[in-house]
Amino acid sequence: GKRLSLLNLPLDVVTLEQTLDRLGDWMFRAPRAPHTVVTLNPEIIVQARTHPEFVDAVQEADLVTADGVGIVWAARQLHRQEVPRAPGYDIVRGLMERHGPELRVFFLGAKPGVAEQAAQNAVRDFGVQVAGVHHGYFDPAEDQRVADLVGASRAHLVLTAMGAGRQEVFNQYWRQVLAAPVLIGCGGVIDVLAG
Ligand code: UDP
Repeated sequence: GKRLSLLNLPLDVVTLEQTLDRLGDWMFRAPRAPHTVVTLNPEIIVQARTHPEFVDAVQEADLVTADGVGIVWAARQLHRQEVPRAPGYDIVRGLMERHGPELRVFFLGAKPGVAEQAAQNAVRDFGVQVAGVHHGYFDPAEDQRVADLVGASRAHLVLTAMGAGRQEVFNQYWRQVLAAPVLIGCGGVIDVLAG
């Protein structure tokens, strides 16, 4: 597919449906290997200006979608290119709707207790399997322990919601340990799923 460069960050020209198809392939059809997904928003672009490691994490991501209208607008202004939106919440919800009981999800992030509630709601609404839950307020010295926990869970899909930038760097740096076929940085999505 077509990939643009937006202020030195990649952006894939993909629809939500194409995104769901590709992530479905990575989870259930391709040889098991970790893939990282970034849903690009203006906050990540701003953070990237002062955090070079954020730039690397986005540049190395397997798929970068436009989370919202700010990115769509920027692509139009800078490239005269219409880029469809594929927001993190729509991707996560779409995967749960499509794959339901065959999908094992790890909920990583948000304040203590919130990931548990999000997982309960996802089971109730979509029948997904819960691979595990962990809050997103651990010290960087704990990164390896948390990554090991996720890796041992055999999740297909890891929702990493620990704030713009940190979540993308965590997924990219630890992807071989996390070892799930889809790792997605998805900001406030665990809060939204918790209701
Ligand atoms: N979050 C987290 N750990 C952190 C910072 C944030 O788990 O150290 C969670 C926060 O609870 C929320 C999500 O990340 O569920 C997005 O947080 P926020 O909106 O503050 O971050 P942004 O994406 O705006 O940078």
